[in-house]
Amino acid sequence: MPRWFRALIALVLLSAPLPAQQGVTRYLRYAHEGRTAYGTLEGETIRELAGSIFESPRPTGRTVRLAEVKLLAPVEPSKVIAVGLNYRSHLGNRPVAEYPGLFAKLPTSIVGPDAEIMMPADATDLHYEGELVIVIGRKAQNVPVADALQYVFGVTAGNDVSERAWQRNDLQWFRAKASDTFGPLGPVIARGLNYDDLLVQTRVNGEVRQSERTKDLIFNVPTIVSYVSRYVTLLPGDVIYTGTPQSTKAMQPGDVVEVEVEGVGVLRNTVVRAKP
Ligand code: MG
Repeated sequence: MPRWFRALIALVLLSAPLPAQQGVTRYLRYAHEGRTAYGTLEGETIRELAGSIFESPRPTGRTVRLAEVKLLAPVEPSKVIAVGLNYRSHLGNRPVAEYPGLFAKLPTSIVGPDAEIMMPADATDLHYEGELVIVIGRKAQNVPVADALQYVFGVTAGNDVSERAWQRNDLQWFRAKASDTFGPLGPVIARGLNYDDLLVQTRVNGEVRQSERTKDLIFNVPTIVSYVSRYVTLLPGDVIYTGTPQSTKAMQPGDVVEVEVEGVGVLRNTVVRAKP
C-alpha cells in the first residue's frame, strides 16, 4: 500500500466523528435456561459475567443472544428512593423547592422489562412517570457533591408508577408509590454516559406523552446523591428515581407504556387490572 494512501486513510479516520457513546458499557440481568446472571450487552450479544457487577465482575466466556433470554430488572436494590417535583415543566403552580423532595418506594415495587404493571382492583387514577434512575455503585455516606459521581455505578430507565387519588388522600404516598409493580426498571444499566444531558421520553401505545432532557433537572445526579447520602446510607445496587418531566395522564388496562432514556434503551411494560 503506498504511503500516501495510508496517510489518506489515517487522515479520514482521525477526522471522522467519534462514536456518540464511546466508552459506554451496558449491564443487564437476565434469566436463561433456568439460570439468572449478569452480563454486558454488545450489539445483540450478551457476555455473561460472574460475581457482583459492583465488585470487578469477570467474564465467564459464555455468550448468549439477547433474543434468547428473559430480561430482569437490572438490579435488586435494598432501597428505592425517589425525588419528586424535579423538573420545572412538572411543577405547575408550585414553587421550585430549595432542596430535593424525597420519598420512598419499596424493593417489592421493582419489576423488569416486559413485566406487567398490576393496577390494584380499587385503583382509579394510575399514572406513568418516565424517569432517569440512578444506580449506586459504592457505599455512600455524607458524600460531597464534587465526589458524588464516584458513587454512581450508572443509570437506567424507570417508571415511577403513581396512583394519584391515593397520593392526594392517603396519610403518606405509601400505597400511591410503593405498591407491587409500581417501579418498572431497565432494560440495562448504562455506565459512562453524560447523565446531565440525556433525553427522557415516555410513550403510551406509541404516542409520545413526555419528552425532556435531563439538563432540565432542577437537582442533578451528583446533587441528588450527595443530598440523599446525608441522611441515608446508600449501598451498591440502591436506586434513586430522579423525577418526571411535564404532565402525566391515567393509564388504562391494556396500555403499553414505554420509557426511553437516551443511551439506555426502551423500558416497555403493559398495564393489567388485578382481580379484586
Ligand atoms: Mg416520580
